Amino acid sequence: MLIELLEEYFQREEPHRERDYFYVSEVGKCPRQIFYTVRGFPRPPLDGQTARKLAVGEDAHRRIVQAMYGLGIVVAAEVPIPPGALFHGRADAVISLHGKNYVVEIKTVHPYNFEQMAIAPRRDHYLQLQLYLHYFQIPQGIILAENKATQELREFPVELDSPEVNRVLSEFQDLKELIFVRGELPPLPDKSNWEFDQCKYCPFTDFCRENVDRLPGVPLGPEAELEPLVLPENSVPERRTIGLFDEP
Ligand code: SF4
Repeated sequence: MLIELLEEYFQREEPHRERDYFYVSEVGKCPRQIFYTVRGFPRPPLDGQTARKLAVGEDAHRRIVQAMYGLGIVVAAEVPIPPGALFHGRADAVISLHGKNYVVEIKTVHPYNFEQMAIAPRRDHYLQLQLYLHYFQIPQGIILAENKATQELREFPVELDSPEVNRVLSEFQDLKELIFVRGELPPLPDKSNWEFDQCKYCPFTDFCRENVDRLPGVPLGPEAELEPLVLPENSVPERRTIGLFDEP
């Protein structure tokens, strides 16, 4: 009765934006999912529960940044990457502690992920913070993780890792050429590097499953759904799966 109304209220379409850059949050994301998003492939609306989960994360960010303002340590909040970069994004905050500036990246995480992060941050969180350190020329930062269920906090001080930043920039420069310039479908991702099964949370799963055998490097747009490719023999890439264990 009421739940149906609320579900409808929270559910929303995600607008497609023309762009020629990546978001910091796309580091570690399946390149095919990025391709489908960038090219505006059809996707189901965001369901009410997922929209509410995202809102809980946004509320936690606001609460923590407000507390840091209360401590008088915030230098800047919601700090954007300078325009024209390969990546767009906003760091949650830059703070000053003991005479040094730190970029702070706040993450609200599922309890299972929180336990997985007992001694080290999640790799995609680490790489996202690395990009902010690189673009802001600040050599240190902190990943602050909050357990979504208990509000327990955990922090990971991180130093700028230039070789890793250069690797990510080079990888995404290649992806930019592939997706934005040549308009080609990226190869199937190496899922053995994934920390969770992204396919489980991907809005393009049905479409992708139908087109999983498409060759990489073939121009593809939404209209191509009507024109199935004829694949040469023995050209079908293997689709691997990994254990399903948690939400992103
Ligand atoms: S279904 Fe899996 S392989 Fe396909 S785009 Fe989504 S995350 Fe990538």
